[in-house]
Amino acid sequence: MVIVLREGTTDRDVGELVARLHEVGAEAHVSRGEFRTVIGVIGDRERVMQMPLEAYPAVEKVVPIMKPYKLVSREFKDEPTVITVGDARIGGGGFTVIAGPCSVENEEQVVEAAHAAREAGAALFRGGAYKPRTSPYSFQGLGEEGLAMLARARDETGLPVVTEVLDVRDIEVVARYADVLQVGARNMQNFLMLRDLGYQEKPVLLKRGMSSTVEEWMMAAEYILKEGNKNVILCERGIRTFETGTRNTLDISAVPAVKNASHLPVIVDPSHATGVRELVAPLCKAALAAGADGVMVEIHPNPREALCDGPQSLTVSGFRAMMDELAELAAFLGRE
Ligand code: PEP
Ligand code: MN
Repeated sequence: MVIVLREGTTDRDVGELVARLHEVGAEAHVSRGEFRTVIGVIGDRERVMQMPLEAYPAVEKVVPIMKPYKLVSREFKDEPTVITVGDARIGGGGFTVIAGPCSVENEEQVVEAAHAAREAGAALFRGGAYKPRTSPYSFQGLGEEGLAMLARARDETGLPVVTEVLDVRDIEVVARYADVLQVGARNMQNFLMLRDLGYQEKPVLLKRGMSSTVEEWMMAAEYILKEGNKNVILCERGIRTFETGTRNTLDISAVPAVKNASHLPVIVDPSHATGVRELVAPLCKAALAAGADGVMVEIHPNPREALCDGPQSLTVSGFRAMMDELAELAAFLGRE
C-alpha cells in the first residue's frame, strides 16, 4: 500500500511513521516528490492495517496498490524517474540515444566507435565484454580486458559506458569499469542476480526477456528496486512471435503500456528486435513517437568485419543520417 502524506509534513513526522512501520515488520520506502511525500509499504498487510494509520495527523490517505509490482508502479510514484549518468539523462521528457558495437573486439574498434557515437550525438556508449551467445563456439567476448577498453573509450570521449553483466560473479568487476550495468534478455529472470544488482549503486538497464510478459518484466525490475537500487532503465528489445522475417518482433505497444504502469524510463533496442540494419532507423522513429525515453542501437566502424551482430549494426554514416532524422522528428514532436 501507499501512505500519502499531507503537504508540509516534516522529516520528523516521516521518521516517526517509518519507525512504527518497522516495528510491525514492514518495509517503508519513502519517496519525496515536489509537492507530496508518499511512503510505499511492503509487509504483512494484516499487521499494517491494524495500525491506526489514518489517525496520524501527517497521513492524508492510505491507498492499496492493486498491481503485483509495487515500487516500480505509478501508483507508488507518479513522477517519472530521471536517471543521471555523467552528463547523460534518461527519462523526464528528453530522448536519449545509446550507441556502440555489439561487442568489444579490440581497442581501435571501440575507440573509433565511441568517437563516432559521440560526434553523431549519442549520450552513452554501449559495448559487450561478456557476450551471451546461442552457440558456445561463437565469440564469447574479451571479459575484463574488454571492460578496460570500454573505460578507455569513456576517458577519451566522456561518454558513460553501458555494458552487460552476464553472471552474478561478475557484478563487482563490471561495476568497477562501467557506468550502467545491463541485464540481457536471457537473464531477465535471473532473480539472484537481480537481487544483487539491487544492492549496488550503479544504474541497471534491464532488458525485457524475449518470452516475458510486461508484468513479468515489471516484477524483474521490482527485485532490483526492492533491495534499494531505484535507478532502473527498462529496455524493450523484441519478443518471440511466429514471424521469422525479423529476429524478434518489436513490441512497440509495450512502450506506452509501461509508461502507464511505471515511473521508470523505457527505451527501445530495435537492433536486437529486428536483426536487420534497414529496420533500425524506422523503428527508432516509432519509439520516439510512441513516447519512449530513448533508444539503444548497435553501430560498427566496419559491420562486415564485426565478430557479432554485423547484419544489424549501423555504419557510422548510417548512424549519423539516422540521428539527423531523429532530431527532425523530435523537434516536430516538441521533444529534446
Ligand atoms: C545486447 O544488447 O548486447 C544483447 C545481447 O541483447 P539482448 O540481451 O537483448 O539479446
Ligand atoms: Mn548484439
